[in-house]
Amino acid sequence: MTDAPAAIRQNLFGLDRAGLEAFAVQAGEPAFRAKQLMTWLYRKQVTNFADMTDISKVFRARLPEIAQVRLPTLEAEQTSADGTRKWVLRLDAGGDGPASKVGGAIETVYIPEANRGTLCISSQVGCALDCAFCSTAQQGLQRNLTAAEIVSQVWFAQRTLGDARISNVVFMGMGEPLANYAEVVTAIRVLQDDLGFGLSKRRVTVSTSGLVPFMDRLASDVDIALAVSLHAPTDPLRDELVPINRKYPIAELMAACDRYVQRDRKMHVTYEYVMLDGVNDGIEQARALARLLKNRPAKVNLIPFNPFPDTRFARSPADRIKRFSDVLRAQGVLTTTRRTRGDDIDAACGQLVGRVANRQRNRLSNIPVQVAP
Ligand code: SAH
Repeated sequence: MTDAPAAIRQNLFGLDRAGLEAFAVQAGEPAFRAKQLMTWLYRKQVTNFADMTDISKVFRARLPEIAQVRLPTLEAEQTSADGTRKWVLRLDAGGDGPASKVGGAIETVYIPEANRGTLCISSQVGCALDCAFCSTAQQGLQRNLTAAEIVSQVWFAQRTLGDARISNVVFMGMGEPLANYAEVVTAIRVLQDDLGFGLSKRRVTVSTSGLVPFMDRLASDVDIALAVSLHAPTDPLRDELVPINRKYPIAELMAACDRYVQRDRKMHVTYEYVMLDGVNDGIEQARALARLLKNRPAKVNLIPFNPFPDTRFARSPADRIKRFSDVLRAQGVLTTTRRTRGDDIDAACGQLVGRVANRQRNRLSNIPVQVAP
């Protein structure tokens, strides 16, 4: 018997437990098939139906006719002198977004540390948000990733890393995760499911530039840590650095952060703050930031700016970063400074660009960011 055309065979990769159950039931099989499929696909990393030995022979034989397991292709793998690793995945044409016909490439980075291993994953090819200091912004939004493409980043990394465990996953690669909400939430469910990747809930972090309505939805849909790209303590400056601020200014953003942590006294929000020389790194700005965060469950993560070609910004010198951090700490705000890793393989924060065929810029000005929940 020949397989049905790929288009009508459902891709099981990227489905969460509910999605796999729906597939099983529709195929006339018991719902528990979903658990088996989930374990094979994500935990055991078996993509060949014939090898899924606890599934009945009859169904195993039928699976290739109605389903497929399709992942992006691994195009390149690099290891930095400091142990940071990077994977480049080549995508099929697909997904949605202004350039849905383009494939493109995405990048995933693994950062090993003494007590944890963090995987930094992408949620879109390019990004529409146009943050002034980010190299991904320069290519505009190419397209959203599918849940399969998001999950595959963890899958490939895990396969390469073997026992070097991925303890944390952060949506801090390319793209704005909350602008690709549905696919990102499905991917989160797979990452956090015991039969999926089994990651502890609060060790998965969504980082957002501040799409307020989706922050509220996220809180009700999943249990996950939140990081917010603040980068400026006042609206005029944040309007320039993170233009989505014109739509959701700081007061609204902070109110959303407060709602986010309401459900759990132990929760906090991590505020990311990129250190741009002479732009947002002054003492007055540190004081203003401290005032903003002082009475909130907050951690600040200062990120030394990572330069890229043609940027107008420079990294704050180390002593200025230290001074900024000292002011925050003196005010009782928990503050850490991110170590820059993977510089030699262009794997540092804000340097992930992928390689896209279509470099046409789809900027915030002409692509409406989908914001209504
Ligand atoms: N869209 C999400 C994820 C972005 S990447 C967000 O905005 O949060 C994760 C972090 O890296 C964000 O805080 C982002 O602002 C920051 N970043 C972007 N470009 C950078 C650069 N060149 N140097 C340092 N940090 C950068």
